Amino acid sequence: MKPMLIAANWKMNKTPSQSLLFAKELLKWVEERTPKSQILICPPYINIPYLLEILQKSKINLGAQNCHYEKEGAFTGETSPEMLSSAGCEYVIIGHSERRTYFCEDDEIINKKIKSALKFGLKPIFCIGENLIDRKRLLTNNVLERQIRIGLEEISSNNLNRIVIAYEPVWAIGTGISATNEQIKDAHDYIRNLLLQIFGNAGKEVMILYGGSLNSKNAEEIFSLENVNGGLIGKASLDIEEFTRIIDISEKILLE
Ligand code: PEP
Repeated sequence: MKPMLIAANWKMNKTPSQSLLFAKELLKWVEERTPKSQILICPPYINIPYLLEILQKSKINLGAQNCHYEKEGAFTGETSPEMLSSAGCEYVIIGHSERRTYFCEDDEIINKKIKSALKFGLKPIFCIGENLIDRKRLLTNNVLERQIRIGLEEISSNNLNRIVIAYEPVWAIGTGISATNEQIKDAHDYIRNLLLQIFGNAGKEVMILYGGSLNSKNAEEIFSLENVNGGLIGKASLDIEEFTRIIDISEKILLE
């Protein structure tokens, strides 16, 4: 049975009351179905304490969408991994393509954030993926290799079971155009082999999620691929019915 993680990246969506409404419905659904897949919600920071209050004792985990790499200090507008961890987050998304593009985060900054997140007890969801130009130039594997080698520099193999990688081709995020099954298979197999090459057997322990216009129509085929351990889901995670349909699909794959 391969481990599965279904992670919602809400981006800059949902007010506290909207997020509470969603969480209550999800909680009810989870209590009825007792899914075996791990479920994670990554809301905007402001919603974290509201959600913690009702999700604390549940099987639904909470994560943040970003963090700084410093513990504290004069970084106006930022949030540290220590703060997230003490606010009840278990995971933090790091290196999302929107952070790389709009906030100029490079591989070196992402590496600092991953190390800091691990230090403060968070599990990083490390996002990687090529843009359309790289893909057209047949540079996908080169980009993935660079992002992984720099992003995971100085990280010991003992920590690998706490790291999740999300393969998110930039051109598939929020566009409604998912990567094909073949493209996903090739990228996930490449990532797995690279991890094994760098970290030895510990490379097997990293969960590799797919992200990029994942929805209830394409989830079954994608989740069935050998090196896919679930999804990082943007738009389709905002709607409770769509999101629970996707969890249901991952359950089916888990139990096959
Ligand atoms: C994401 O933002 O991580 C993502 C995959 O978004 P979407 O599902 O909307 O493509």
